[in-house]
Amino acid sequence: MPRIRFGPAGKPLGFKGAMEKVPSYLNSIGLDALEYEAVRGVRISEKKARALREEAEKHDVVLSMHAPYYINLASMDESTWRRSIERIIESMTAAEWMHAYAVVIHSGYYKGHKTREEALKRVIEGYKVVIESLPSWVTFPELSPELMGKTSQVGDVDEVIEICRVVGRCRPTVDWAHLYARYEGGRVVSVDDVVEVIERIERELGARAVNPLHTHFSRIEYGRGGERMHHTLEETQYGPEWSIVCRAYKEMGVNAVVISESPVLDRDALLMKRICEEA
Ligand SMILES: [Zn+2]
Repeated sequence: MPRIRFGPAGKPLGFKGAMEKVPSYLNSIGLDALEYEAVRGVRISEKKARALREEAEKHDVVLSMHAPYYINLASMDESTWRRSIERIIESMTAAEWMHAYAVVIHSGYYKGHKTREEALKRVIEGYKVVIESLPSWVTFPELSPELMGKTSQVGDVDEVIEICRVVGRCRPTVDWAHLYARYEGGRVVSVDDVVEVIERIERELGARAVNPLHTHFSRIEYGRGGERMHHTLEETQYGPEWSIVCRAYKEMGVNAVVISESPVLDRDALLMKRICEEA
């Protein structure tokens, strides 16, 4: 039976305890995934990260990690590019400690390049340096370039596939809200559309890349150029529809880890789980 896991991006709402206590809490409310947010920098100590791993294993919670926002692997500025590489290496190292299977990364921006291809080439070069520079004991986590919500950001479907194809130790993070916003509501509108994206990833990268399929979801507001802000499932004036995505997952029988990036994190993770059970 395919399994779809659900969890929040970061500490659950209203949870006041230490990070390593989050897995037991999630388990008690019926969730089984957690994305550790290192978006303002990797600050967790090895000791804490290992404690988190232990708790997550004990309570059957799968961990992933979101790398810092301040990364631009497309940058032509050598020091920005180098620092971006270092931040990803730090993230991968902490992910190894906590046994996070995917390190989610915003690859960078097209700005400063004449073509999108040129930016993509620079990004891939950066990821290759990351792989070459990783300490040999960092073996568990995979790089996970995210499908991005703005047309200024490297990270369309084809680009994340191309990055992973070349880099190897890599699985896409498919953010359906971002795909929807990037195309101003023109994508993620039918089960077939979702199936097509998953099939393409599987065809190009192999079954491994979609087992499990690392997923981000929320409703989202967009404008010209794509993403504006994330919204709750309750705010039905915004798309996309979770039921469409879940139906595609169930039809295809894919295993997935679904991270809620809604403003009401774990509450919407639970709602997504319920919608999926009813679909
Ligand atoms: Zn992200």
